[in-house]
Amino acid sequence: MRTTISGGYLTEHGPNSLMLNDTRIAKLLEQIGLNNRIITADHSSAKRFIIKNGKPLAMPYSVKSAFFNKVLTLPTLLRVAREPFIRKHKELDNQSFADFIRHRLGKTILNYAAGPFVNGIYAGDPEKLHFKLAFPRMYEVARDKRSIILTAIKKPAANPNKLKKKSIISFQNGMQELPDAFERKLRAAGCQIHTQVSNSKLERDNEAWKYSYSQVGQTHQQDFDEVIITIPSYKLDTVQLPSHISLEHTKSIYHPPVSSLLLGYKRSDVKHPLNGFGILASLSEKTDILGALFTSTLFPVHNRAPKDHVAINVMLGGSRNPEIVQQSEEELIATAHREISKNLGISGEPVFHKLTNWKQAIPQVTLDHQQVLDELNQVEKDNPGLKFAGNYRGGISVGDCLINGINLAI
Ligand SMILES: Cc1cc2nc3c(=O)[nH]c(=O)nc-3n(C[C@H](O)[C@H](O)[C@H](O)COP(=O)(O)OP(=O)(O)OC[C@H]3O[C@@H](n4cnc5c(N)ncnc54)[C@H](O)[C@@H]3O)c2cc1C
Repeated sequence: MRTTISGGYLTEHGPNSLMLNDTRIAKLLEQIGLNNRIITADHSSAKRFIIKNGKPLAMPYSVKSAFFNKVLTLPTLLRVAREPFIRKHKELDNQSFADFIRHRLGKTILNYAAGPFVNGIYAGDPEKLHFKLAFPRMYEVARDKRSIILTAIKKPAANPNKLKKKSIISFQNGMQELPDAFERKLRAAGCQIHTQVSNSKLERDNEAWKYSYSQVGQTHQQDFDEVIITIPSYKLDTVQLPSHISLEHTKSIYHPPVSSLLLGYKRSDVKHPLNGFGILASLSEKTDILGALFTSTLFPVHNRAPKDHVAINVMLGGSRNPEIVQQSEEELIATAHREISKNLGISGEPVFHKLTNWKQAIPQVTLDHQQVLDELNQVEKDNPGLKFAGNYRGGISVGDCLINGINLAI
């Protein structure tokens, strides 16, 4: 998470928002003193647009809005209505996300609803994502209930951790307030935080874990009972672990590259009202962007863009188009501007830009991901006191990472 503010624009270099739907996250935010820093997304954020036939069309966001919807037309809705009568696939446990959706809801839902949603979350390829492991809650419904649609419409089962009302949130000065607040809280509690360390090495000596590292040219060593490693899986090579620990599957998880580009425009140059969360590319129409978030609409009164200007965060790359991030900064700006101009009716040039290139953005929970989980479980079992956590295990959203962290700590 990193937020910068320049030229009147607030740029999120990583995540833009957090889904607040769990009492444990609400309590954690209160404990680290962020309660009065929370900002909630504008109500229009419920609306999402899909590019269909070259136009941004609103997805249905309620039962009422599903009627006469231009993305999901009558034949598609009739196909969805058949879902409760379709038998469970015998390969449910090993299916890709795309196979699951095609089987239960049909090709159009995959191309214009579920697939774009996966593109938006994972920057991933629905044909390669493991349904059960990448979408565990949906998998449980598919396994245990007759219909995923009827279950979604029905009143949800009582869950003590579920907040009555879920909301998309950020903080007044952006997402970086979250790690900053953790740092303040930990330091105030007397914890040591060391950054810019190198030569990290972990050894097992009798009952203790010996951790050594270099910082500003000096080597330090400390003993610990328990060690939790939370660095990204592609960075695990930067910590030297005891030679008997092999993490070959975990280290080789594919993280496609993503370019996150914030573009600023004069409000009067953008025809589209930007009255929603953003636009997502469909799977079946060629476009060079993954999607774009309307960040100044999401959090309208909170310094996301200067007065009479708008900010649009365009995402490019991902598993289905990784080569595009090879473009130079100028080319990426031109590509993003061309694509969103077509879709949002933009007449002027961008007046602001800020590019963040993620060479390895988001871990892909692919069809062989079970071997990653098995490997981690075995290493933890064989090495008491050593734990691994991060977005490659148990969910990639900020909310999932927080919940997994809470569960590990208590
Ligand atoms: C462009 C982008 C947009 C996203 N948007 C959203 C969104 O809007 N909402 C959402 O919920 N999720 C979003 N995500 C996903 C989400 O942000 C991540 O999955 C999540 O933040 C990952 O958390 P993490 O703690 O596993 O890893 P990280 O946040 O990457 O933290 C790992 C930490 O380890 C440190 N580190 C690395 N190597 C070492 C080392 N050798 N020694 C010590 N420390 C080290 C790093 O500096 C870093 O601080 C987005 C992701 C990307 C890339």
